[in-house]
Amino acid sequence: MVIARTIEALQAAKEEFKGTVGFVPTMGALHQGHLSLIQQARRENEHLIVSVFVNPTQFLEGEDLDAYPRKEEADIKICELAGVDILFMPSIDVMYEEDELCIGAPAVRGYVLEGEKRPGHFDGMLQVVMKLLNLSGANRAYFGKKDAQQLALITQMVKNYFMDVNIVPCEIVRDDKGLALSSRNAYLSSAEKERALCLSRSLKHATKMVMSGELQAAKIKKEMLEVLKIADSVEYVAIVNREFKAIEKVEIGNTIILVAAWVGKPRLIDNLWI
Ligand code: AMP
Repeated sequence: MVIARTIEALQAAKEEFKGTVGFVPTMGALHQGHLSLIQQARRENEHLIVSVFVNPTQFLEGEDLDAYPRKEEADIKICELAGVDILFMPSIDVMYEEDELCIGAPAVRGYVLEGEKRPGHFDGMLQVVMKLLNLSGANRAYFGKKDAQQLALITQMVKNYFMDVNIVPCEIVRDDKGLALSSRNAYLSSAEKERALCLSRSLKHATKMVMSGELQAAKIKKEMLEVLKIADSVEYVAIVNREFKAIEKVEIGNTIILVAAWVGKPRLIDNLWI
């Protein structure tokens, strides 16, 4: 495995490539969720690039940029064992210059839910993903459904800018109790981890309601909020179609139910695609 810390090193390592390239961008502190993307990309492509970059432009003032978990040595080991060909680990200077051209999230889809609670977050995310996709030259790039709105916006960016890469959505990986894996789970004490299960429980409860024929979004949300009572605070429970427009009735095959809540230090998100 080549560890590339500069653009030049990345380009030189890519020169060896002859076939299809898969790419998995991450912010590191790799866990089983990341690994499932990496393994899928490994199976589906001849060559595999993973990036680890904690992107400053997607953190808002007062968010956890400095405290964000960093585990470089472990990340290198995990990538080596997973058969990654190039691990791209750039510094901020490698990725950004001053007074940059920026791209903005779309005015509607980019400013609801996460975009409303974290204004500017998606601009920074799209900016870095555009850079990373261009640098990787990948045929396929893998993103988790865990960040559902992020996935939708990246798919839209690729379409709107006619970028020549396939975005592959990947299933959410959970621990054995149902908690969606996240690097930020490292902030949770064991008691908080137990309480954090209310996010996935609320989604399981929503599934049960839908399976028993209840499609009214308002009723489902109300009961989900009951389950979420043990979180410290709930930022949103939303029932939207795949366009991220709020809907009154669940449409099977075209609905995403999303939740964001604070438990202890971290803000957690989870969702369910119906
Ligand atoms: P991050 O390092 O949090 O930026 O995540 C990098 C990629 O891994 C993103 O595409 C995430 O959606 C994905 N990811 C993170 N957690 C999970 C998970 N539990 N299951 C599936 N994908 C995930």
